[in-house]
Amino acid sequence: MTPDLSPFQLLRERTGIFLDFDGTLSEIVARPELARPLLDAPPLLSRLSRSFALVAVVSGRQGQDIRRLLGLSGVAVFGMYGLEGHPANVSAVRAAAEEVFAVSARVRGAWLEDKGASLAVHFRSAPDPDVAGRSIRRELTRIAMRHGLLVLAGKMVVELAPPETPGKGAVVLRESRARGLAGCVYAGDDRADLAAFAALDELRSEGVETLKVAVRSAETPRELVDAANAVVHGPSGLVELLERLTLDSSPGPGLGAELEPTGPTGSFARHAEVPWPGETARPDPSPDRS
Ligand SMILES: [Mg+2]
Repeated sequence: MTPDLSPFQLLRERTGIFLDFDGTLSEIVARPELARPLLDAPPLLSRLSRSFALVAVVSGRQGQDIRRLLGLSGVAVFGMYGLEGHPANVSAVRAAAEEVFAVSARVRGAWLEDKGASLAVHFRSAPDPDVAGRSIRRELTRIAMRHGLLVLAGKMVVELAPPETPGKGAVVLRESRARGLAGCVYAGDDRADLAAFAALDELRSEGVETLKVAVRSAETPRELVDAANAVVHGPSGLVELLERLTLDSSPGPGLGAELEPTGPTGSFARHAEVPWPGETARPDPSPDRS
């Protein structure tokens, strides 16, 4: 079932498009520094930013990283779960750094990504990522409690961040309200994106048209897929959906004719999903990264 995009096309001057980066605009890769946006993504975002009120990337990555990878102006970037430009005391993070490093050094295949204001331990390369993940989560939770830090679990990563970290939901709410958006689209693939989905629920209760898109891969948590209005297959599926947003929604001949709603009209309350090719059972939604 294809989601009806016409409300957002019609309201494009008052619609914001918020997108996660890893697993959403780029495929998940072995190490974060190897990630690249899909080739089609930057020009598409650039086109969208010219007609929509806002196109924004909301990520756990540092903003400068996203800006470098996209190489675009006109697309807003909110890095570090909204922590950048937000007053936060990072001294507790720094005080925990050595202990967190020690945890990463004890687990084979794990490594520490020090983002300055947060500390992420990745375990994708561990011989048994499930076992490694459980042990890392347990130890990092203890450290977080001692230092008063937040624990953020993502795809094959556990991260410690200052308690003031706004999170993706707070960023989406703040930007949508500040800009008086009438439409809001969010796409993500991981646990941290659930907060943004909750923000869209809140905006919807305030009369905003919303669309929650889960970008599905083998590691996408079940909760995210269940909470979504539409599910696309990987970043390339999202690019297709965003391409459709750029089209004219006016009825009649021409491009608009392709956009006649195939799903429930006027509402995204139903879940639109295409079966995952060859899938028999969903993988265990173990904690995961944004
Ligand atoms: Mg992600």
